[in-house]
Amino acid sequence: MTQGGSVAIVGAGIAGLTAALCLARKGIASDILEQTSVLSETGAGLQLSPNATRILDTLGLTPQLEQVWSEPVEIRLVDGTTFRTTASVPSGSFARNRWKAPYGVLHRADLQKVLLAAVEAEPLCHLHLGVRIDDVSRASVARITAKEPGLIIGADGVWSKVRNHIQGSGKARFSGNIAWRLTLGQANAPAIFDATTVSAFLGRGAHLVVYPLPRLRSFNVVAIAGGHDPQETPGRALPRDDSRKQLLAAFSGWHPEIVNMLRNAPEATIWPLYDVSDGAWHHGEETVLIGDAAHAMMPFAAQGAAMAIEDAFELAAFVAGGQSLAAFADHRKRRVARVRSRGAFNRFAYHARGPVRLGRDLVLSMRRPESLAADFDWLYGYEPRD
Ligand SMILES: Cc1cc2nc3c(=O)[nH]c(=O)nc-3n(C[C@H](O)[C@H](O)[C@H](O)COP(=O)(O)OP(=O)(O)OC[C@H]3O[C@@H](n4cnc5c(N)ncnc54)[C@H](O)[C@@H]3O)c2cc1C
Repeated sequence: MTQGGSVAIVGAGIAGLTAALCLARKGIASDILEQTSVLSETGAGLQLSPNATRILDTLGLTPQLEQVWSEPVEIRLVDGTTFRTTASVPSGSFARNRWKAPYGVLHRADLQKVLLAAVEAEPLCHLHLGVRIDDVSRASVARITAKEPGLIIGADGVWSKVRNHIQGSGKARFSGNIAWRLTLGQANAPAIFDATTVSAFLGRGAHLVVYPLPRLRSFNVVAIAGGHDPQETPGRALPRDDSRKQLLAAFSGWHPEIVNMLRNAPEATIWPLYDVSDGAWHHGEETVLIGDAAHAMMPFAAQGAAMAIEDAFELAAFVAGGQSLAAFADHRKRRVARVRSRGAFNRFAYHARGPVRLGRDLVLSMRRPESLAADFDWLYGYEPRD
């Protein structure tokens, strides 16, 4: 990699902050350049699966995370019309035993705060806030950091500017799905919402994921509906005017408790869901993409942040080991492709209609929770290169 021996990271989201900590663990200094001047409460809840928490544990962050997350006892699939549980996968202590790492749910801002505190305490990490990088060249970065970086890491999310500087890189494409994210006080929640589980309510063309946010004493609610034209380009946000109407239309015919909750809930933030198509992740040995900048994906497998964390950890291992960025990209692309296809399968199964839906429920009802858990060994039991 780096002739100058130093690294610049564009973006202080989950990918960028984790990358700085992983590089520091290998004795490599970095400058992190973040456009916002305060890292604020953006986003909403996150599920952090064992493949991600194993890495955060290696970074020594489990005690801090345990203060702000909860570990659900199971992940269950529930019919959104009848409230019948069709399947469940054990989590909690089962996850710690089977995958040797916890499964936690928390607010994204809490994860970012834990990472930020670790970065601020690490002498090899230098954070520059309020610095937007549009011209991604060593010289322009050097004007901020006072040294030319040997390596620039683009961790600047789905709308990455760094990606534009990599020939043959992927493009952000609208998926045709929209997510509404909101938090709901536990006191106002329908009785079916359970503060000890992650519950995915499934229906025709839509699903709703609910889990507790312990610090806020509330539930994180994510409603996702497809059916929009993928040729549309709604941009980063949709007009809020008729958002509630659209949400209620997507969930009409669902169980009345869900419909009432959506009618009366606090205003949701709306996220048109984009993914970044396959393309180049690196330019020579100078520039590389990680996280959503490289491979933003639908949240159907709840793995976007987990993949960003894995990318960060493995990139540090490849860089410290003197391996090429091409080898890093080849290695990570295989893993991300498998996760992406799991997400595509979930999307098909979660939003199924008619006979496919009946078939799905029949197959799931015949599987025992432990046998369903075994399907996740390749994902949650992943041992990253170190
Ligand atoms: C509805 C929904 C639910 C999700 N649920 C889960 C889940 O349960 N589990 C999971 O693992 N993942 C989940 N994800 C995915 C996860 O949120 C993302 O994959 C993850 O946050 C990506 O992190 P990142 O650091 O790559 O990008 P970002 O979080 O987008 O961070 C990019 C950073 O770069 C900065 N930046 C951008 N441009 C510039 C620039 N030009 N100069 C300087 N700085 C710049 C930004 O300000 C930002 O701080 C979900 C996503 C959605 C939409």
